[in-house]
Amino acid sequence: MNVLVANLAGVKVEADGSVKHFIKAGSRWPMTIGKSRSVDYYPFPFWLAYTLAVLKRDTKADARGLDGVVLDLTGDELLKEIVARKPGLLVVELASLTLADDLAFLTQVKAATGCKVVVCGNYATVTHKELLAENDCLDFAVRGEYELAVRDLVLALMDGGDVSGVLGLAWKGPEGVVVNEARPLLADLDELPFPDRDDFPATIYPDFTLYSPCINILSSRGCPCGCVYCQERHVMYASPKYRARSAKSVVDEMQYCQERFGARQFYFDDQSFVVRKPHVMEICEEITRRGLKVPWTVMGDAMFVDREMLAAMAKAGCIGMKFGVESAEQSILKTIGKPLDLEKAKQVAKWCKELGIRTHATFCLGLPGETEETIRKSMAYMEEIEVDTAQVSKAVPYPGTPMYKWAQENGYLTTTDLSRFDGMGSSIISYPGLSAEDIDRWYAEFSRRVARKKVLKYLLEPGQSFSIMAEMVRRKGLASLLKSLYTFVRRAF
Ligand code: SF4
Repeated sequence: MNVLVANLAGVKVEADGSVKHFIKAGSRWPMTIGKSRSVDYYPFPFWLAYTLAVLKRDTKADARGLDGVVLDLTGDELLKEIVARKPGLLVVELASLTLADDLAFLTQVKAATGCKVVVCGNYATVTHKELLAENDCLDFAVRGEYELAVRDLVLALMDGGDVSGVLGLAWKGPEGVVVNEARPLLADLDELPFPDRDDFPATIYPDFTLYSPCINILSSRGCPCGCVYCQERHVMYASPKYRARSAKSVVDEMQYCQERFGARQFYFDDQSFVVRKPHVMEICEEITRRGLKVPWTVMGDAMFVDREMLAAMAKAGCIGMKFGVESAEQSILKTIGKPLDLEKAKQVAKWCKELGIRTHATFCLGLPGETEETIRKSMAYMEEIEVDTAQVSKAVPYPGTPMYKWAQENGYLTTTDLSRFDGMGSSIISYPGLSAEDIDRWYAEFSRRVARKKVLKYLLEPGQSFSIMAEMVRRKGLASLLKSLYTFVRRAF
């Protein structure tokens, strides 16, 4: 049986000839990245890549992967590829943002190949029943973590087709949609093979990249916090349970990637790398013990981390940490379920600076309780905190999250059109006293200040900036660097 695991098309040509590029599987905030391809941010589609690796290891299916996003394929181009590969089963994630286009595309695939289609990911988890009931092009849907469910589905299809025992699966029975028993979360992450980086090519997914090729890696899954907008916490894993891989397995993977793909940097795209101190300390010790000299960056947080942990990370090669602040209003943080102490976050930024760890802080506008006053407070805090760079986004209440339910019940959503649930689009939330237009206006101002902070940083620390720019020239060429600088300076002033 041929199985194709795919991230669907990343490019859409509109009726008027304009072009849109998207980020889909792998991103916490599926979004439009604009009119041209992004070269600085392509999240690695971990769940798809792990699924492919599991299929290659555990089944006799001829399993292949294809990423229509990072390869920048239009629907027509992707269709041609899929038809040529003649899959018996197509495994995809659905993103709410491009749902209508993706379903139309899957209808074309079905007509052209007759293959069975299984949909996975956050959106399919929330709406599996409706998706199957309303779309002839879909055959199966998986709820939650899906690597082993897809494996068991393939094994069942290759062994007569009885899928009634596949945990986590929803399927079409003779009398309608059947939803099998839920699948428990994977108890031991070390049971998974390394994600497939051949068909999802290891070296072409930049994220928090200072040295290229930068290879993405996961050391854990889950997060004990409860942020109301977080899809991984409330939809995909639907649990506060934190699970960590062993240090040996993580460092084995780093060594493998260095030898096989020439990694010059790693990026740990965990929900947060620093949740459990012993896990972090063991990885750092193992890296140091093996003498692995490749620098790495992490998605971390400023809640669970302490100075001792950061010092060990810096010693083991950590050169950068992203962390979420989201709002500088403590009551908003409490409401959204993020136990961040704003003073500690400032301290964490200082510790990182002392230890040579670059920092990137994220902010989010339009969370429950937001007012013009709280936005001003967050902007001032962003300017004050000693991070190297920052980013701001608009809150998007994705289906299945508590924030979606809350916004819907209170009438705060300005639309139910899923194509507008876009991390980079106009705000779709409007509160009494703070309209969607207000949020968009403040977002523009906040973004200007974020850009200004970056430009000032470059000017004030020319030594560090020079090495970053030299690496950018190496990766993307001088013309591209000058264009980015021009864009930033224009945005900033
Ligand atoms: S801290 Fe991050 S990963 Fe954890 S629940 Fe909040 S948004 Fe999700």
